[in-house]
Amino acid sequence: MWTPIAEEAERAARVLHPDRNRMPRPAHRRVITVANQKGGVGKTTTTVNIAAALALHGVRALVIDLDPQGNASTALGIEHHVGIPSIYEALVGDRNLAELAVASNKSPDLLGVPATIDLAGAEIELVSTVAREARLKKALSDEALDALGVDYVLIDCPPSLGLLTVNALVAAAEVLIPIQCEYYALEGLGQLLSNIDLVRANLNPTLHVSTILLTMYDGRTKLADQVTDEVRRHFGEQVLDTVIPRSVKVSEAPGFGQTVLTYDPGSRGALCYVEAAREIAVRGARGAQQGGSR
Ligand code: ADP
Ligand code: MG
Repeated sequence: MWTPIAEEAERAARVLHPDRNRMPRPAHRRVITVANQKGGVGKTTTTVNIAAALALHGVRALVIDLDPQGNASTALGIEHHVGIPSIYEALVGDRNLAELAVASNKSPDLLGVPATIDLAGAEIELVSTVAREARLKKALSDEALDALGVDYVLIDCPPSLGLLTVNALVAAAEVLIPIQCEYYALEGLGQLLSNIDLVRANLNPTLHVSTILLTMYDGRTKLADQVTDEVRRHFGEQVLDTVIPRSVKVSEAPGFGQTVLTYDPGSRGALCYVEAAREIAVRGARGAQQGGSR
């Protein structure tokens, strides 16, 4: 009999038994910036869960926490109190990124470079630096990333369009925009897109929006469907088929220093993040993402 418990077990098996469904490695390493200057739309949640889904399925991934709040570090179970070597040391100092990456507690293939509150000062400290917009790009050198052996780099941006986000846009070829299925979801997107255009025109010709992910979908509301339809109409192919549902498990996981994939592998949130990651991986393997190599 197909009970809810059997269904949950089946979902957990799909999340946790990767050997049966390994994800394809990309032809070239992909550097993806997760950006939306609005707070609370699911940037951090998306960054860590997509990275974890790739890692659990045999594709080695590095998360760069570029938000002084350090939420991505928390979700990966990586220490980020004052004094911990962090992304700040690579941006403002010249520390080798490979020395700053730490393996997450749940998967050896999931690495993270933490952010501490020091990063809050970087935005100002960098202003007088030479090539201040390209500090992160310099840190994400082929040498450092080869040393770490990662196929994917996901950069979690702060909720602003300041110098940290500009650094992330200069360092990546792809942008992933999470959009919350809520009223006002599209407000502010124009500003983000024009900033992306500016960076492409002046600093990083390969930059493009490769992926849009709808997050926190609540099937009980008509509004969620309206937003979903509008985003699909507007962005078409870039929007992943998978939509991330609103789920308590997803929001609880960081409190346990985990992604939802290990916190509750049988949850719909976990499965949807795995499916979203698979779509991203499959598109990358097809070579559909031009400029995906760095
Ligand atoms: P951002 O990084 O864009 O500020 P977060 O990823 O931190 O956004 O998400 C904002 C809040 O919403 C967090 O408390 C997070 O746990 C919660 N959240 C994110 N995605 C979901 C989801 N699918 N279901 C329920 N809560 C979610
Ligand atoms: Mg965040």
